[in-house]
Amino acid sequence: MSAPRGRLAGKNAVITGAAGGIGLETSILFAKEGANILMADISAEALERAVAKVTQLVPNHGRVEPMVVDVSKESDVQHAVEYLDAWGGLDVIFNNAGIMHAQDGDALSTPEAIWDLTHNINVKGVWYGCKHAVLALRRNKKTKGSIINTASVVALVGSATPQLAYTASKGAVLALTRELAIVHAREGFRFNALCPAPLNTPLLQDWLGDDQAKRLRRTVHFPTGRFGEAVEQAHAVVFLASDESSFVNGADFVVDGGMTKAYVTAE
Ligand code: NAD
Repeated sequence: MSAPRGRLAGKNAVITGAAGGIGLETSILFAKEGANILMADISAEALERAVAKVTQLVPNHGRVEPMVVDVSKESDVQHAVEYLDAWGGLDVIFNNAGIMHAQDGDALSTPEAIWDLTHNINVKGVWYGCKHAVLALRRNKKTKGSIINTASVVALVGSATPQLAYTASKGAVLALTRELAIVHAREGFRFNALCPAPLNTPLLQDWLGDDQAKRLRRTVHFPTGRFGEAVEQAHAVVFLASDESSFVNGADFVVDGGMTKAYVTAE
C-alpha cells in the first residue's frame, strides 16, 4: 500500500457527532485528505449509514471506523480516544457532537432537565474530549496536536429566538477552548473553536420545518440570503486540523457568510 497523501496524511482523528451534518461532511473531507478517522456518534444506525457513505465516496481511504459514543459519558470518550493508541495515538479531535433541544426556550420556559441535558452533551462532552486528547497527546509523546470544538455564532451575538441552554453551552465552549489554547500552547497543542452560523442540517432544518416566517427571521440576517452548508464548515475544520494552521490558536473561528458582521434589513 502506498503512503497516504493529502493535507491530513498520517493523522489519527476522532470526530464526534460524526453521523450528523457537519460531522459527516468533515469525515468525508478528512478521509479524502488522508487522515485515519474514528467516527463517533450516539446513533448506531446513523453511524452505519455515515461510515458506508464515507467509504463509498472515498475509495482510497485510510482507516475509517465507527464507534458508538455518548459524549456526555466520560468513559465513552476516554475509550474512543484511547482506541487510537493502537494506531499511533491521536493527533486531532473534533469535539463536534451537540444538541439543540426542542424544549429549550427563554429563562422562564427552559426546563431544568433540558438545561442539564444540553450542558452535559455540549459542554461536558467537549471538556471530556479535550481532557482525554491532552492525556493521549502526552502519552504518545506528540509535539503537536489540534483540538477543534464546535461552538456557534450564538456564543458571539445574542439570538433573538430564545434557546438559552444552548446559547449558554456554546458560550462555555468558546471560553474553555480559549483557556485551554493558552494553557497548552507550549506543548504544541492547539485549541480552536468553530463558530458556525445557522446551517442546512437536520439540527436546524427539522426544527424550522415549513414555517416560512421562522425561516425568514433567520435568512434575513445573512448578507448572502442563504443558510450555510455543512461542507463549508468541514473545509474550515480541515484547515484547523492540518499543519497549515500551525499559528492559529485560541481562535473563535467564525464561518458564517458574514452574518455576524452584517447590518441587513428585509427590504
Ligand atoms: P446534527 O444534528 O446533524 O448532528 C449532530 C450529531 O451529534 C448527530 O449525528 C447526533 O446523533 C450526534 N449526537 C447527539 N448527541 C450525542 C451524544 N451525546 N454523543 C455523541 N453524539 C451525539 O447537527 P449539526 O448541525 O451537524 O451539528 C454539529 C455541531 O454544530 C453541534 O455542536 C451544533 O450545536 C453545532 N452547530 C450547528 C449549527 C446548525 O445550524 N446546524 C449552527 C451552529 C452550531
